[in-house]
Amino acid sequence: MTHKPYAPHEIAEMVVGLHRLAQNLWWTWDQPAQELFQQLSPRGWQNLYHNAAAVLREVSDAELRARLQDRDFARHVQEVLKNFNHYLHRKDTWGTANAPHLQDRPVAYFSAEFGFHESLPIAAGGLGVLAGDHAKSASDLGLGFVGISLFYREGYFMQAINTENLQTEYYTLLDPRNLPIEPVLDPKGEPLVCTVGIGASTVAFKAWRVNVGRIPVYLLDSNLPENEQLYRDLTLHVYGGDSTTRIMQEVLLGVGGVRLLRALGVHPSVFHMNEGHAAFLTLELVREKLAEGLSFEEAFAATRQECIFTTHTPVEAGHDRFSPDLMAYALHRFFRQLRVPQAEVLALGRVDPADETEPFCMTVLALKASRAANGVSELHGQVSRHMWRRLFPDRPEAEVPIAHITNGIHLLGWMKGPVRTFWKRKLGNDWENDVNTPEFWHRVLDPEFITDEEIWALRYRLRRELVEFCRRRLLLQGERITAASYIAFDHLLNPDALTIGFARRFATYKRAPLVFQQFDRIVELVSDKHRPVQFVFAGKAHPRDDAGKRFIQHIIHLSKHSALKGHLVFIENYDIHVARQMVSGCDVWLNNPRRPLEASGTSGMKTTCHGGLNLSILDGWWREGYDGTNGFAIGEDSHPDNVEEQDESDSENLFQVLTEEVVPCFYNRSVNGIPRQWIQKIRRAMATLVPQFNTWRMVQEYAHNFYRPAAPVTEPPPGLEVVAEP
Ligand SMILES: *Cc1c(COP(=O)(O)O)cnc(C)c1O
Repeated sequence: MTHKPYAPHEIAEMVVGLHRLAQNLWWTWDQPAQELFQQLSPRGWQNLYHNAAAVLREVSDAELRARLQDRDFARHVQEVLKNFNHYLHRKDTWGTANAPHLQDRPVAYFSAEFGFHESLPIAAGGLGVLAGDHAKSASDLGLGFVGISLFYREGYFMQAINTENLQTEYYTLLDPRNLPIEPVLDPKGEPLVCTVGIGASTVAFKAWRVNVGRIPVYLLDSNLPENEQLYRDLTLHVYGGDSTTRIMQEVLLGVGGVRLLRALGVHPSVFHMNEGHAAFLTLELVREKLAEGLSFEEAFAATRQECIFTTHTPVEAGHDRFSPDLMAYALHRFFRQLRVPQAEVLALGRVDPADETEPFCMTVLALKASRAANGVSELHGQVSRHMWRRLFPDRPEAEVPIAHITNGIHLLGWMKGPVRTFWKRKLGNDWENDVNTPEFWHRVLDPEFITDEEIWALRYRLRRELVEFCRRRLLLQGERITAASYIAFDHLLNPDALTIGFARRFATYKRAPLVFQQFDRIVELVSDKHRPVQFVFAGKAHPRDDAGKRFIQHIIHLSKHSALKGHLVFIENYDIHVARQMVSGCDVWLNNPRRPLEASGTSGMKTTCHGGLNLSILDGWWREGYDGTNGFAIGEDSHPDNVEEQDESDSENLFQVLTEEVVPCFYNRSVNGIPRQWIQKIRRAMATLVPQFNTWRMVQEYAHNFYRPAAPVTEPPPGLEVVAEP
C-alpha cells in the first residue's frame, strides 16, 4: 500500500461522473468507456446485454466506492471522464464553423424509430438504425440538433422460432430505471406533461430524454394514468396495431413532437422528417401560424420553408396511406382549428387533390410541405422522382424536386473491439481523430504499413469470434427445442471456412432464400472439403408478413437438412448486437434484393471497416460503391421489368459470381496460406468505401444542402434549386 486513499469528495466526483456517463450513449461508441462498465461487472455486462445503466444499478453504491479505491480502475475512470467532458464541451467543432445558425435554432429531426444500441431496443430496423447513426454523427460534428421519437415501452418484438420453424413474437416490458433515459421535468421538478388532440379526446403525454453525446433525443410517452387505455397503449409497440393505432401514433409523433419542443423553448430552424410518419408536424406548424394571424396559404408557404423530407423506400406498402374516414376520425379536432374546409386539408395528402376517394398519403403531405426532399441513394433518387412525378405535372421527370443523399453509418458505433485495438496499436491513442477521412483509410493500401499477414490475422480473429457467438446462441436456441443436440454445437461452423452472411428484415423483396434456389450446387459448395463455404442468416419478418415468415421457415428447414447441417445457421432475434457480430465476422456480406427496391441498404457498409467484402446486386448504395476492385457485383447496372425473369437471372448470376469469383479468390493461397488477391480487395474496399459511406459525410451533406437557414417566403423555395441529375 503506497497510495493514500482517495478523499471522499474525489470518490463522490467519480461516482457522479460514472452515473452521468452511463446516462449518455457516448459510451456506446467509446471503447475505454465500454470497458469500464465491463470491468465493473463482467457477468452483469453479459447478463444485462451490455447495458451500462443497468450494470451500474446492479453494483451497489458501497461496492462501487470500494472499487474506486483501486488506483488502476480509478485512473481508468478519470481518464474516460476527462475525455467525456472534453467531448461534451469542446467549442471548435465542424458545426460551429460550418452551421453556426443551428446552435441557437437547431435541426429538429423526427423519426418514428431510433436504433442506438442493443440495450435500448426501440427500433424495428434499418430506418431506426440510420436515425440513430445520424444523431450520433450530428453530435460528433457539433451540430445544433434535437431528435424526436416515441418511447415504446415494449419496444419492437423479440423473435423466437418454434418447433415448426415458424417465427413467434413476444415482448418484454422495458424498465426506464434500467435505461439510458431521463424524465423530462418542468421547472417544479414534476414530469413535463403536454397534450395533443387525437380523435375526440385530449391525450396527455410526457417525455424522456436520451443523451446522445452532445445532443438530446426526446421520446414521447402517452402512458399516463389520466389517459384511456387505448391512448396509453399508443406508445406500447413500434409500429404497433392496425392503421387506427398507426395514425394516432403519427399524430402523437408529429403534432406532439412540435408541442414538446415549444414547451421546452426550442425553436428549430429546420424540421427534418425522416420518412413520412412524422408528416403531421407540418399541419401543427400551419396551425401555429394561423393562430398568429396568417392566412392558410401564407401559413402553409411559411411552413414549407421550415421543412425537409427524406423518403426511404420505393416499396408501395412502405408509404402510409389513411382512408378519408380514418383521417376525419383521428384529426377531427385538429381539422376545426385549421379553419379551412376539411377537403382542402385532405387534398394535401393526395396526388390528385380532386379525387375524394384517394387515401391520404403521408409521403405526399411531406413532399408538398417541404422545401427540399431527398432519396437515400442515387438510384433511389431517380426512382423516387419517377414515383412521384405526378405531383409535379408541369415538370419533366428529371426536374422533380427530389434529390438524393446516400446513407451512411456511424463508424465508431459499429467498429468492433479488435479493429479498434488494431488501429490503436498502429496509430496510437488518438487514432480516432480522422477515422472518417480518406487519408486515414488510404493507409490501408500500403502493404508496408499494414501487411497481408496482419489483415489476415484480424480477419481470422473476427471470424472466430462470430463462430463462437453463433455456437453460444445456437446452444441457447437449441435448448428450448432439444437438449440432446448439445455435442453437435462444437462442430457447428468452421472458423477457417469462407463465411457468407445475410441479415436483414425478411421483407420478401430482399429475397433471403435466393441463394438456395440452386440447392444441389449449394450442397456441393458447402461440402467441399478443401474449399468449404458456410452461411449465417438472421432477420425478423413483420408479424403480419406471412410470406416473410415462410422465408424464415424455409431457411431454418434447410439449416436442419442433413446436407447443410452445421454449414448453415439461423440466429434468432436479429438486433444491433447480432448485426455487429455478423458484419464483423463474415467474409462476404450477401445482398440480393429485387432491384430497384433496396433504397440504400446500410448493413453492407458496416462490414467494410472489418475487412468484409460485399457481394451484392447493383442496387442502393452498392451501385455507387462498387468499382470493380472492391467487392463483387451480382448482375448488371440494369434489371428486367419482369419479376420472375429478374429472380431467375439474379439467382443464376449470384451462383456464377460465387463459384467463379468469390470462392476461387478466397481460396487462392500463397505458400503460407494467405489469400493475397482477397486481401487486395479488402484493402481496396476499406480505402474506397469507408470514408464515403459513413454518417459523418452524410450529415455534412444534409447540413450543406438542406439545413441552411430558411429563406424568406418571397424567395423561391431552395428545394426547387436542388435540380436532380437526369
Ligand atoms: C444496419 C441494420 C439494419 C439495416 O440493414 P440493411 O442493409 O439496410 O437491411 C437493420 N437492422 C439492424 C439491426 C441493423 O443493424
